[in-house]
Amino acid sequence: MKQTKTFIPTMREVPSDADIKSHQLLLRAGYIRQNTSGIYSFLPLGKKVLQKIETVIREEMEAIDAVEVFMPALQQAELWQETGRWYSYGPELFRMKDRHNREFALGATHEEVITSLVRDEVKSYKKLPLTMFQIQTKFRDEQRPRFGLLRGREFIMKDAYSFHASEESLDVTYQDMMQAYTNIFTRLGLNFRAVIADGGSIGGTGTHEFMALSDIGEDTIAYSDNSSYAANLEMAEVNMDYDKSDERLKEMEKVSTPEVRAISDLVTFLGVEANRCIKTLVFKADDAFVVVLGRGDHDINDIKLKNVLGAEVVELADEVEVKKLLSCEVGSLGPIKLPLELKVIADKAIASIVNGVCGANEEGFHLMNVNPERDFAVDRYEDLRFTLEGDTSPDGNGTIKFAKGIEVGHIFKLGTTYSAKMDATYLDENGRAKPFIMGCYGIGVSRILAAVAEQFNDESGLKWPKKLAPYQVHLVAVNVKDEIQKELADELHKLLKSYRYEVLYDDRPERAGVKFADSDLIGLPMRITVGKKATEGIVEVKFRQTGETVDWQREEITEKLQ
Ligand code: ATP
Ligand code: MG
Ligand code: MG
Ligand code: MG
Repeated sequence: MKQTKTFIPTMREVPSDADIKSHQLLLRAGYIRQNTSGIYSFLPLGKKVLQKIETVIREEMEAIDAVEVFMPALQQAELWQETGRWYSYGPELFRMKDRHNREFALGATHEEVITSLVRDEVKSYKKLPLTMFQIQTKFRDEQRPRFGLLRGREFIMKDAYSFHASEESLDVTYQDMMQAYTNIFTRLGLNFRAVIADGGSIGGTGTHEFMALSDIGEDTIAYSDNSSYAANLEMAEVNMDYDKSDERLKEMEKVSTPEVRAISDLVTFLGVEANRCIKTLVFKADDAFVVVLGRGDHDINDIKLKNVLGAEVVELADEVEVKKLLSCEVGSLGPIKLPLELKVIADKAIASIVNGVCGANEEGFHLMNVNPERDFAVDRYEDLRFTLEGDTSPDGNGTIKFAKGIEVGHIFKLGTTYSAKMDATYLDENGRAKPFIMGCYGIGVSRILAAVAEQFNDESGLKWPKKLAPYQVHLVAVNVKDEIQKELADELHKLLKSYRYEVLYDDRPERAGVKFADSDLIGLPMRITVGKKATEGIVEVKFRQTGETVDWQREEITEKLQ
């Protein structure tokens, strides 16, 4: 492809609204352009990378017998009403009305659509298992679209859905997906980890997220340095999305009474659990605070105290004015861990498990409702690292380390959550109607483009791994007005094309400096420069990953490229 014929609008300046490397570089190197918040056009180079990502995904999906379909983005509200998600999904779902006043959603995900399709067409266990996937545009009105393609409002996802007649069959497909995802991210060259993920609100029984490791990731993962153990702290991400603007911090200062500060200290030192909870409820008695860490949707009456998994009693020093603290946790978050470092603020920490202590009657307590982050500032990620880093991994192998990650894939055992609500059933061997057992499996296709760009760059630009580079070779004619150079470059262009190399040919009448800067920015794996030595039939070859430069004779190029 000749650069005079294609469309690669590079920029010298760093765009002011792009605050991470991948976003800046994808804009500057002319891969993407923003239309409006969270909405992007893919330019020729960006589109090519997308296609490469999609090819790898398609190959691995087909290898495990998943078949490709393409479902509508425009989805009638009735389907979403059947599962109740029309009401529960919230403002992230784009909603609209047609000219007849019928309501629609723009597909944020496709469980409803595919379940209705299978409900209508698959009647017997003999047709199961069945796995279908699509690569399609998704729409989510994200609260904070940011980081370019990483969190868009319109983005490309590969989503797959599987249907089964037994849990065992779902397990097999889930394992196949796990392997396929591992193959995909390995082939794409990503530095990633598969992590055990919180089930969240979808109500599944098993779920893994695939995290591309990156300092700008919005998720925090804990992993062992000596085994495959890795877990996502889903709620950390929720909390990290909070706006920590100065104004907010000032607001927090205002409500920071000594009591709140004492609780803030406690929550800070509760480490991981504080990190995972949105809401902290504090009951105050004469000489005790009971701290209940829970999810944000818990109303005080709603707390399932009987679900409390564990509690610990701690004596704190007088100077924090809290004689005794009882901490416990609600829901499925797992037992609280009180770090030894609590000694830093307490003279002594007496820890003993007091099961069900929070079942004690609430009367006589004075209720306070303290929200970490709203009422006081907590750097949760740091708390977490401080608390758990260096501990033994839950599987006993190695110690726990922390990293930030970008969620590039997510696999999920859904069970019958959707099929039961939508009355999607098949007939089993005995002719009985049973709801389909389901799984769903997503990959952020456009997000991967940014995640790879984030992992592969240097100060001069992008550095694509071979498999994803929009072209393999950047052929640069230094001076197109020089006949010898132009002739040799034209000839090489033809030759490389005839050997089916993907070549981007810079045949622009630009200065050498501009061409080299653009070439580094675009970041193809290999640059072949035709310059002054063209008279001797010599070209300069530069490898983008290593920076290594060598001279090749014109005749040896095709042989060396093998
Ligand atoms: P996140 O936690 O980042 O909001 P999610 O858990 O809501 O993602 P899923 O519903 O699991 O996302 O969707 C499957 C995949 O789609 C994700 O693993 C991610 O790679 C991608 N994805 C989700 N939201 C976006 C977005 N706003 N922009 C780009 N990719 C996204
Ligand atoms: Mg999301
Ligand atoms: Mg997520
Ligand atoms: Mg997810």
